[in-house]
Amino acid sequence: MGTLSAPTLEEITRLCISRGFIFPSGRIYGGLAGFFDYGPLGAEMRLEVLNDWWYYFVRRRDDIVGIYGSIITHPRTWEASGHVDSFIDYLVICKRCGLEYRADHLLEDSGLEVKELTAEYLSEAIKQYGIKCPKCDGELSEPVPFNLMFSTYVGPKQTKANLAYLRPETAQLIFTNFRDICITARLKLPFGVAQVGKAFRNEISPRNFTFRAREFEQMEIEYFVNPKKLNDCPYWDEVREVRVNILSAEMQERGVKDAKTITLEEAFELGLISTKWHAYWIAESLKWLWRIGLRKERLRIREHVKTELAHYAVQTFDVEYYFPYMGWKEIEGISNRTDYDLKRHQEYSGKDMSVLDDETKVIPHVIEPSFGLDRVILALITDAYRIIGGRRVLSLHARVAPIKVGVYPIVTKEPFVRKAREVYGMLKERFTALYDEKGSIGRRYARADEAGVPLGVTIDGQTLEDDTVTIRFRDTREQIRVKIPALTQKIAEILDHWDEYSTSHNT
Ligand code: ATP
Repeated sequence: MGTLSAPTLEEITRLCISRGFIFPSGRIYGGLAGFFDYGPLGAEMRLEVLNDWWYYFVRRRDDIVGIYGSIITHPRTWEASGHVDSFIDYLVICKRCGLEYRADHLLEDSGLEVKELTAEYLSEAIKQYGIKCPKCDGELSEPVPFNLMFSTYVGPKQTKANLAYLRPETAQLIFTNFRDICITARLKLPFGVAQVGKAFRNEISPRNFTFRAREFEQMEIEYFVNPKKLNDCPYWDEVREVRVNILSAEMQERGVKDAKTITLEEAFELGLISTKWHAYWIAESLKWLWRIGLRKERLRIREHVKTELAHYAVQTFDVEYYFPYMGWKEIEGISNRTDYDLKRHQEYSGKDMSVLDDETKVIPHVIEPSFGLDRVILALITDAYRIIGGRRVLSLHARVAPIKVGVYPIVTKEPFVRKAREVYGMLKERFTALYDEKGSIGRRYARADEAGVPLGVTIDGQTLEDDTVTIRFRDTREQIRVKIPALTQKIAEILDHWDEYSTSHNT
């Protein structure tokens, strides 16, 4: 499948901009740090990823329903959830040039391991290692806590009483709607609620293109389980043999750097993953990431060490992807949030958050798989980046490719053009398709390869004789001939069985 290359962040950024996947927002004004707009290809790809996620985690299952909540949320939500008090990063300011930095990032950038996220630890480490402003070498201030939530005012009066927040995570909307969801969807434990939507965090130093943005999209599930049945997972047999690359907290504390590969059953038996339901959601998450084409060896699960755990979690695993230009980085977090959120909302709202299970009232515990859509897309584009025969090819899995098929007349002349337009009209009824007649056929293939289009249909001399066209495969450049009346069916079959067809086409 061509040369696996290790693209730089600059190469990925350039490809995203030049092909119309993703643009820095407000580029004509110099860009607004941490905000991005998806271009024509990116908008399609975003829908493909999101729709496949929704199919895999919601529609395909009987135990998960979806909601779609509002972005500006009741301010009490964030008091109850703990975000007003605890959703902070530590900020340091250069005393000479005034630039602001996230304290833990400065340490990481100096090659140091950040063991604790407390003001005392960060302050001590900055002094001990003599960390200075990377821009002007100036002295840095003491770390101060900075709340990451964006605030706004609801209504015309800018008073404290009207202060509200843009949600920093979609999850809380599931908890605040919990009672209404249970009643209207008539749900019985165990069950899940899924949501896709924007989240906002006023990151101190947004960077690495879309990886750390201030506005981004999450795809989250809260999966509710009876606290007495955390190991009572009816789907266990489907996942126990799944092999995972795992780096546990204990391994990290011993200084181990590389993950080990074991089955989920082993991970559970060894006590590395504390409940079967947590292990199950790790498996389902990985299975979906594999399904959309990410390479297994570039995915691992890393447990949060104690000092990293969010205020609501008792155990968290990050699914990390190996970005050649950044190293292992989180694209999804899978947390055991216990009954923390429901109990807090019960306390703050005075409303009963319990449900009946086996005739007993319980406040369920929750496992939360939380994906960042933008980070998944960045990982997919990075993973798909290849240099084949000296040319850039984006080998996206057909499931997430923004355009599935390109249609080309071999030369821009009649009757080829008319026939090609006819075929294009037929195919776009069923697939996202493009029609291209500009430039040599080689250049048109090259453009489509960079855009990740898995298949190309070419109308050539033989088409006019026997009503056949060629289907060209992006990754191998192999071609097969198909009769036009059978074309739609054949393309659908190839796309549906991409894993088999992308390596062997001659069937
Ligand atoms: P990080 O440690 O990288 O700041 P996090 O642990 O705060 O991330 P979570 O709160 O677990 O992130 O959010 C769940 C998911 O949302 C993450 O796995 C990530 O994919 C996405 N996400 C979080 N923050 C950002 C961001 N600033 N930009 C883009 N995606 C984000």
